[in-house]
Amino acid sequence: MKKIAVGILGATGVVGQNYVKLLVDHPWFEIKDLAASSRSAGKTYGEATSGKWLMDIDIPAELLDVQVRNVMDYESIPDGVQLFFSATELDDKEATREFEFAYAAKGYPVVSNSSANRWTSDVPMVVPEINTDHLEIIKAQQEAHGLPETGFVAVKPNCSVQSYLVAIHALREAGYPVKEILVNTLQALSGAGYRGLTESDRRETVNPLIPGEEEKTEREPSKILGELGDDQIIPDHSIIMSALCTRVPVIDGHTALVYLNFEDEVPSLDEVAKIWSEFKAEPQELDLPFAPQPAIEVKAEGDRPQVKLDVDNGKGMAVTIGRLEEDVFFDIRFVALSHNTVRGAAGGAILTAEMLVARDYIKQD
Ligand code: NAP
Repeated sequence: MKKIAVGILGATGVVGQNYVKLLVDHPWFEIKDLAASSRSAGKTYGEATSGKWLMDIDIPAELLDVQVRNVMDYESIPDGVQLFFSATELDDKEATREFEFAYAAKGYPVVSNSSANRWTSDVPMVVPEINTDHLEIIKAQQEAHGLPETGFVAVKPNCSVQSYLVAIHALREAGYPVKEILVNTLQALSGAGYRGLTESDRRETVNPLIPGEEEKTEREPSKILGELGDDQIIPDHSIIMSALCTRVPVIDGHTALVYLNFEDEVPSLDEVAKIWSEFKAEPQELDLPFAPQPAIEVKAEGDRPQVKLDVDNGKGMAVTIGRLEEDVFFDIRFVALSHNTVRGAAGGAILTAEMLVARDYIKQD
């Protein structure tokens, strides 16, 4: 298959660097464009990330001398780019929303990590194991926004949601709908971007507040689990959710402590573990390059999942679950972990793009 040329918007940041690392040997995609703010524009990628490169591989040699483009300079987009991954947050949400649609209006598919368009009702917010049917809203989005046939915006949810929502979806699919969820997250420093990893006052402490995170955590599942309407995604408000989100001194990996009550019948713990271990969705059935096999790894050992041991399971794309137990106040409780910058950001967006290719929303030449 001829590789699809992609651009990375926000290529110098934590998520952007993860895209570079994950795409460098991707069987379907090849990097053709790197863009960032005016601070980086005009520099080579090597210069723009000098002293800021955080990945555990060297900057790929073929990208060192690529000139970084200003994300706002649409005229300088190289010919042939067929898809943009966006890890850019402009100064305000409205500007970011418009910026993503400006790329779509030029005919580019945009898969974004920003929260700006997550609540745009005709933009699918995709966890590929849960709601790829929501991609069908793209047609209505193109009509409503006057976009050309190839252009659209799809987004990823918040970086901790996939730690537990895939597991909850698997239970719903198996006939055990969930009524109430209490989740406490222990979120890694890299979730706060470059500054999160480099500002020393964030280390050796637990910060009990991540501004805006609890609202996103409580709200986004309703859209992801929502129904595909004619011209919008209709959120499912049947699950009551309470979230408390904290920042912990861990580099990568968001852990979630999850408590839940089922709507009706309560499955046995063995049944829950079996449902999770055997769970497969479309990305696994299609054997997409970034689909973790298995999607959920269930650990019986009491001291798992642990960031140090499990964050890279499934090449950083799997969800790892342990401490599955009964609880005094809830039907069950468990601990879930996923890699925030891989599964929760760049890798999750790449898997979404693979799904878009598989479903022919992104055409190959
Ligand atoms: P980051 O490390 O701070 O990187 C930000 C990137 O955006 C850099 O490339 C930066 O370019 C560029 N940028 C910043 N301000 C800009 C502006 N005004 N105009 C154009 N470009 C600008 O942040 P990050 O962690 O990679 O996050 C990027 C996006 O992904 C954010 O929307 C974030 O919420 C989302 N996200 C992050 C994670 C995570 O785990 N980190 C997970 C999910 C979603 P320069 O280097 O040139 O300044």
